[in-house]
Amino acid sequence: MTGGVEAGEGGASAEGRASSEARVAVVTGAGRGIGRAVAVMLAAQGVDVVAVDLGLDGAEETAALVRNHGRRAIALKADVALDPDVEALFAAVREEFGRLDILVNNAGITRDALLAKLTEHDWDLVVDVNLKSVFLCCRHAVALLRESGEGRIVNLSSATGQMGNVGQVNYAAAKAGVIGVTKTLGKELARWNITVNAVAPGFIETAMTEAVPEKVRTMLLESVPLRRAGSPDDVANAVCFLASDAAAYVTGQVLAVNGGMYV
Ligand code: NAP
Repeated sequence: MTGGVEAGEGGASAEGRASSEARVAVVTGAGRGIGRAVAVMLAAQGVDVVAVDLGLDGAEETAALVRNHGRRAIALKADVALDPDVEALFAAVREEFGRLDILVNNAGITRDALLAKLTEHDWDLVVDVNLKSVFLCCRHAVALLRESGEGRIVNLSSATGQMGNVGQVNYAAAKAGVIGVTKTLGKELARWNITVNAVAPGFIETAMTEAVPEKVRTMLLESVPLRRAGSPDDVANAVCFLASDAAAYVTGQVLAVNGGMYV
């Protein structure tokens, strides 16, 4: 698509120069759902945020919520599955903040279909947005994260990537791939004190799961020992822990946030 990023208003030079010593996080797919919850929770913990999304409106709203916590925020429109967009995104982070401490690879999509009906297009799309994006963002973020001296990468996997799910062969493959990337980069980037971990949510109430038919939802929830769907904040709590100083000696791990549905 764009081959470049578009910045929302208010961000770049506007505010918060005084907070230049604050940690800076990039959160992809921050325009709603889990990404927004992560961005706002990080802000509440004193982190400045770059909210990235396909749509600028959602990212702008998230940036405004971050600013409500007194943190600096910019909104950027980028397709994280496209290398030129990702390259431009991290160039903008360097230009506007001059540092990066936390990368949360959260952007994700589903295009569910049984094997016989799954198109090559929807295989490629889901793998590109959920998995290739993680590779691209890590690759372009690593120089900035090295400079921070204690970088954190948190990737969003899924219970589906751990246990499989009928109708989600594309998504399951991509999310299992995210676990492979996490374990590998946990080893590879340790020499620069960059930790790399994943969070694997179960069934979380967001736009992504809104369309799940009532019958399937009931069946799914019956398989959850805690007997409820998770909230975006349930996931954000785990992401923020892995992004915090408290997780300094944790790397290459997958933290399940699934109410006990898969252990
Ligand atoms: P969501 O509500 O659908 O939000 C996903 C966000 O990612 C949207 O704002 C979307 O933008 C953005 N996005 C999609 N493709 C993008 C791209 N190519 N570049 C940049 N941004 C893009 O999903 P969610 O439920 O919060 O899920 C967040 C993450 O958790 C995903 O990785 C998902 O796979 C994972 N997860 C979710 C669940 C769950 O039950 N919800 C369970 C396990 C794992 P647009 O709005 O413009 O499309």
